[in-house]
Amino acid sequence: MPFSIAIHGGAGTILREQMTPELQREIEAALEKSVRAGQDILSSGGSAVDAVTAAVKVLEDSPHFNAGRGSVLTHREMVEMDASIMSGKGKNAGAIAGVKHIRNPIELAKAVMEDSEHVFLIGEGAESFAFEHDFLYTEQDYFYTDRRYDQLQSMKEKGLFALSEFRYPDDNKYGTVGAVALDQYGDLAAATSTGGITNKQYGRVGDSAVIGAGTWAENQVVAVSTTGMGEYFLQENVAADLAARVRYLNETVGQAADHIIQGELKDRGGEGGLIAMDKSGNAYFAMNSSGMYRASIDPRGKCKIRIYADQD
Ligand code: ASP
Repeated sequence: MPFSIAIHGGAGTILREQMTPELQREIEAALEKSVRAGQDILSSGGSAVDAVTAAVKVLEDSPHFNAGRGSVLTHREMVEMDASIMSGKGKNAGAIAGVKHIRNPIELAKAVMEDSEHVFLIGEGAESFAFEHDFLYTEQDYFYTDRRYDQLQSMKEKGLFALSEFRYPDDNKYGTVGAVALDQYGDLAAATSTGGITNKQYGRVGDSAVIGAGTWAENQVVAVSTTGMGEYFLQENVAADLAARVRYLNETVGQAADHIIQGELKDRGGEGGLIAMDKSGNAYFAMNSSGMYRASIDPRGKCKIRIYADQD
């Protein structure tokens, strides 16, 4: 059976004139490392769930993306991370929100899926579950980067809560990370992980933690991971809606993705994008922003890494 994987490192305003060759190399290297980590698992007979977890973990460990290390800071100058994962086989899912001391939130979401009776755990409760399941306590310092601190200060000065400063080439970008995969057994999986949005308050949670909005996987239908301003993706229930269009309207995954991202979402001002994989392992990338960090390895083993919307 064919197998394949696709990943993203967030969509948003990414402009060529602000990108440096050095930064581009670093970002592309991280994307390649991520997609290859997933591919290695698939090629040795591993599951799509393990592949998407491994791919997301690599991006969580990089300071270039808004997930794990490198997460954006909240109004209180902390990180609060969200993640979710879904297996297309049996539609099992796990999600966590508002965790502060877990190095790889996607692994915790996977543990919720596999080792708990529940689907969604939040905050301190999610962390108690983590420590009972041998996760290590990670200090906030580990996640802290100067870049995110500067971003937060400029957001605070302007009274804003999303990313809209241009000090860094991709500051105006939602740096959430995600992966979708098809394994040799025909099973699909999707995973998403994020620090959310800069200067968030009141326990705000976006789409990335929510099964159906930010993440969906259903065998024979589609696997989806989204990125963008979460409030819009939550209200449009984007990932599950894409699956419903394929299931009930017989649209292709590409048609359904474009309909939502270029239509419903764009019409109401929801900037962002998604990655999706169909039942045969074809990857689709849809975005209504100027770019989305993304990569894929197709069923023939061809690796593709892209940044801007105008690249095929
Ligand atoms: N979707 C994420 C959120 O709203 C942000 C992102 O994609 O970077 O929390």
